[in-house]
Amino acid sequence: MTTLEVDITKRLGSFSLDVSFAIERPDEIMALLGPSGCGKSMTLKCIAGIERPDSGRIVLGGRTLFDSSAHVDLPPQQRRVGYLFQSYALFPTMTVEQNVRAGAAGATREERSARAAREIAAMRLEGLEHRKPAQLSGGQQQRCAMARILASDPELILLDEPFSALDGYLRWQLELELTDVLRGFPGGAVYVSHNRDEVYRMCDTVCVLDRGRSDAKVGVRELFASPATLAAALISGCKNVSRARVAGPGLLMCDDWGVTLETSLPVSEGVTHVGIRAHYFQAHAAGDGAASAAGGNAIPCTVERVIDSTFSTIVMARTPGGASLRYECEKDAWAALGNPAQLVLVAPPQTVMPLVSAGNGETPDAITLDNTGKGGAPRA
Ligand code: ADP
Ligand code: MG
Repeated sequence: MTTLEVDITKRLGSFSLDVSFAIERPDEIMALLGPSGCGKSMTLKCIAGIERPDSGRIVLGGRTLFDSSAHVDLPPQQRRVGYLFQSYALFPTMTVEQNVRAGAAGATREERSARAAREIAAMRLEGLEHRKPAQLSGGQQQRCAMARILASDPELILLDEPFSALDGYLRWQLELELTDVLRGFPGGAVYVSHNRDEVYRMCDTVCVLDRGRSDAKVGVRELFASPATLAAALISGCKNVSRARVAGPGLLMCDDWGVTLETSLPVSEGVTHVGIRAHYFQAHAAGDGAASAAGGNAIPCTVERVIDSTFSTIVMARTPGGASLRYECEKDAWAALGNPAQLVLVAPPQTVMPLVSAGNGETPDAITLDNTGKGGAPRA
C-alpha cells in the first residue's frame, strides 16, 4: 500500500511548484533534496496543511488529506503529520513534560499522560521532565521536540533542515540521535535538505527538486552513482558539466570541453549535458609516456590554477573547448606529477555521466559558480 502520495501544484508570484512523488514503503525515509529556494519547505507545508496547493492531491495511508477536485482539505490537526521545525518550536515557558503532553492535545487526560510518559522514556528525557527548554542541551531539545511530535501519534514525520543552524560536533551528535529516532519510527518520513552527505547517510530514497519541479524519485545510492538529470548531478556534488549531444553509439560530443567522450552508461534520447566528478579523472603530465598510452577519453588541458585545499589538491584545467575542468586528488598524488603546465585528464567511460536537463534548457546558476574554482560548493 502506498504510504504517501503527493501530486500538487502551487503558484507563488513568479515561482511555480509542481511536485509529484510517492513513498511506497511504510518506514521509508525519503529526502527532498535541492538548492535553496527550489520549493522544499513549501512542499512540506502543503503536506502538513499549513499552506494550500492550488490543485492536486495528497493521500496518506489511504486517507485523502487534500484533493482540489473533491474539495477535501483537512486541517493540520487532523492530518496525523508531525513536523520538526529547524528551531524545534518548543513552548519556552512550558516544561519538557508540558511540551510533550501538548503534542497529544485532543486525546483524553489519561491518554495524554500515558503517551507523554511513553515518549519521555523513549527519548531518554527522564529526570528532565520539569526543566524548561532553555535549560536543555541542543540534543535534549531535539529529543523533546521529537517526543512532542511522537506523542501526537503521527503516521508521517516531516523534517525541514533540522541541523542547518548548527555546525561541527553538535550537528554530528544530533544527526546520530535523529537517525536512531527515525529508524525506530514505524511510519515514513520526508527529510528536507540541501546537504547531499546528510541525505546519503540518513535516507533511503531521494527526490530532487529543480526550480519547483520534482525529478523522478530514485534510491540514494543511484543518485550518486548515475544521476539522470543535470539538477541531480549538480546537487549530488558533480563539479564538471558540459553541454553535450550524441555523436554515435555510446559517444558524446561535449561542446564546452571541445572533446568527444565515450560513456558506458545508458544514453537517453534527450541527453543535453554530460557530467564527470572531480575525483574520477586519472591525471598524467603531458608528454610523459603514460599520457600518450592513455588512449580514449583523454582530455588535453592547460593547468590554470592549483588550489591547496584542506585535505586535497584542486586543479582547474582549461580544456580544448575553453571551459575549465576541476580535478581533485590527494596532495601526494599531485606532488608526484611534478607541477606540470600541461595535463592530460582521462575519464574512464563509466565515469562519463549523460544527463538530461529538465525543462527549458536554461542552465542553473550552480554551473557558473562551479567553474570558477573558488570553492564554496561541497566536495565531490
Ligand atoms: P526552499 O525551502 O527549497 O529553500 P521555499 O519552499 O521556502 O524554498 O521557497 C520556494 C520559492 O517560493 C522561493 O522562490 C520563495 O521565494 C517562494 N516563496 C516562498 N514562500 C512564499 C510566499 N509566501 N509568497 C511568495 N513566494 C514565496
Ligand atoms: Mg526551506
